[in-house]
Amino acid sequence: MEFNPFLKNIKTYESGKDIELIAKEFDLKEVIKLASNENPYGVSPKAKEAIINNVHLAYLYPDDTMSELKQALADKFKVQKENIIIGSGSDQIIEYAIHAKLDHSKAYLQCGVSFAMYEIYAKQLGVKVYKTQSLTHDIDELYELYKKHKNDIKVIFLCLPNNPLGECLDKTQVFEFIEKIDEDCLIVIDGAYNEFASFKDKNKHINPQELINKFINVVYLGTFSKLYGLGGMRIGYGVACKEIIDAFYKLRAPFNVANLSLKAAYAALNDEEFIFKT
Ligand SMILES: *Cc1c(COP(=O)(O)O)cnc(C)c1O
Repeated sequence: MEFNPFLKNIKTYESGKDIELIAKEFDLKEVIKLASNENPYGVSPKAKEAIINNVHLAYLYPDDTMSELKQALADKFKVQKENIIIGSGSDQIIEYAIHAKLDHSKAYLQCGVSFAMYEIYAKQLGVKVYKTQSLTHDIDELYELYKKHKNDIKVIFLCLPNNPLGECLDKTQVFEFIEKIDEDCLIVIDGAYNEFASFKDKNKHINPQELINKFINVVYLGTFSKLYGLGGMRIGYGVACKEIIDAFYKLRAPFNVANLSLKAAYAALNDEEFIFKT
């Protein structure tokens, strides 16, 4: 059978082995999984309670407006509900960003080594990938490469801090960089671990409200999979100006996030104790 020819160039994502399988294979009692950076402290206790208390809703499709969680995120970040999209993991928002901006005649830019999913989603569409020689985020080299290929590059990914290498640009570097980029190029700020970096160093903190008030071509991505201990619930979010969110919505399938995931995320947002412990 013939498939989309671009699929030939894609290496299938290999996720780490399941804890139970490893325990069986090596006859181990306790296994701590680090491969996908799940929270080693487990599930937020408040989220756990919410999942149990709402399990009777599992037969229903979720509230597709997702307004309860959207409002909570809007309040947290001091933005409007219209500035938020919720996905089945922030992975899904990465997919929307690529599909909304790119096709096989265009390109995206990232540092030498970053989160694997950017490249996988891009290659599905035959999008060209530009990577800096530097493995980590070198802001000058990123800009040089952008300038050279600015007619093609329509998306730039900045992973802050970077998965898997761990380095993190300062906020001022990021803002100065974005100012130099054309408004028709979408900049994706992947903040999957930004809470961790900014807890230790305030200069790493990216405030989504400040970001989207200043720039119309930026989306900030956050996830419930790491800090909040909900990797298995598959839920994350994007914050951007309404124009970008509206474009992403055209790519969204209805009911893309499970109702128990919405309830768990809503509860986890307020689980201060667990957040602090993590
Ligand atoms: C874990 C992770 C994500 C997305 O996780 P989801 O579980 O899909 O929300 C995105 N970016 C980076 C860098 C990550 O490490």
